Amino acid sequence: NLSERLQGIFSGLRGKGRLTEDDINDAMREIRMALLEADVNFKVVKSFVARTKERCLNAEVLDSLTPAQNVVKIVMDELTELLGRTDSKLVLTSRIPNVIMLVGLQGSGKTTAAAKLAYRLQQENHSPLLVACDVYRPAAADQLQTLGGEIGVRVYRGDGQDPVKIATEGIQDAVDNLRDVVIIDTAGRLHVDDEMMDEAEAIKRATKPDQILMVVDAMTGQDVVNVASAFAERVDFDGVIMSKMDGDARGGGALSIKQVTGKPIKFISSGEKPDSLEEFHPDRMAKRILGMGDVVSLIESAVKVQQEEIEQEQTERMMRAQLNLNDFVDMNRQIRKMGGISKLVSALPGGDKAMAKGEVDEGALDHMEVIINSMTKAEREKPDLLNGSRRARIAAGAGVTVSDVNQLIKKFNETKKMMKKMMPAAEEMGGKKGKK
Ligand code: GDP
Ligand code: MG
Repeated sequence: NLSERLQGIFSGLRGKGRLTEDDINDAMREIRMALLEADVNFKVVKSFVARTKERCLNAEVLDSLTPAQNVVKIVMDELTELLGRTDSKLVLTSRIPNVIMLVGLQGSGKTTAAAKLAYRLQQENHSPLLVACDVYRPAAADQLQTLGGEIGVRVYRGDGQDPVKIATEGIQDAVDNLRDVVIIDTAGRLHVDDEMMDEAEAIKRATKPDQILMVVDAMTGQDVVNVASAFAERVDFDGVIMSKMDGDARGGGALSIKQVTGKPIKFISSGEKPDSLEEFHPDRMAKRILGMGDVVSLIESAVKVQQEEIEQEQTERMMRAQLNLNDFVDMNRQIRKMGGISKLVSALPGGDKAMAKGEVDEGALDHMEVIINSMTKAEREKPDLLNGSRRARIAAGAGVTVSDVNQLIKKFNETKKMMKKMMPAAEEMGGKKGKK
């Protein structure tokens, strides 16, 4: 399967210290084959491999990973991107009853998914109603009725042969019975045809669903793209439920659908039990496809380290740009926590000498804080405001001389200058860290 194929490719790279362009080309060729064999749409494969290769060749790497691990990371990133990047949750609008309509080919798993959705909604304290609009197979409404009975959810099946009428009556039934979400199960056909599309469009027009979910059988293979595109064009839909993920699907459908239709996968269904409908998480799916627990957790910690570096850089940049007197007080407190100035100074080269000469005034910090405490909030944040009359006021308030206040402001300005010198290039380096 796809996971095994990919793992084989990566373990081939692992032994190598440096990856040459040929190594990467070979690996990409194999990835391409593996994806095609997993039934991923060929256009999707083409652009996927092109992007991944480009990134690998550009040696966009994290230092803490080996070259092979970096390739795995890039492939994982791109797989996540392909699968949709953001998590897709079921979002209900404020309209009551909310209407969710399911569409898809016959046998794709709509009726099963309808019951699973109802079960999930019930768990979330909603009171759903299932509406059976598949009027072509007598067994279809019975099937929904049975499933609804198992989970204790009301089913509306109406009578007669008009699915549009049943759908609108179903919504009225929800109102009458205080149900807040209506799930409309529609009839599919074995293949895309106009009759099915016309019917889906008519139900959509009549019920104005808050969302339409297309149910896709994960085992459909290459054809998934054609079917989804046809539905996207005719009835349009908001997201996909990928069913039968528990089968031996090759994964191609899941990997193609977002790219081809622009619609996210919202749920995956993997079994016949009502609780086997999971929210879809692209990153988890990508990891599942890669199937390499150790390497993936290694990559995650490398990414975390890189993120921490970026965060630190941001803090430094902030300090450089906006150091004010409040920061000055914070810094003083920090110094005190570390054991005071004497301890810090004696740790510096030549520090002992300074200590011996009595150049360290431990009380200076307290002094400083008293002065800053006499300043207004605005003055602390914008020391430039401190003109002569303000300085005189502060000196009087703190019980010190104006010269003490001047001294403090001078120290502050020196510190600010020093910090600027210590981090001259932080800004320019911003976008380049962690890359070579
Ligand atoms: P519909 O024609 O679109 O309504 O499809 P159904 O909901 O009737 O499902 C068709 C068949 O697939 C039934 O036998 C279901 O039990 C089965 N099925 C649906 N979803 C899943 C799933 O997630 N896993 C498995 N293993 N079988 C499923
Ligand atoms: Mg059905």
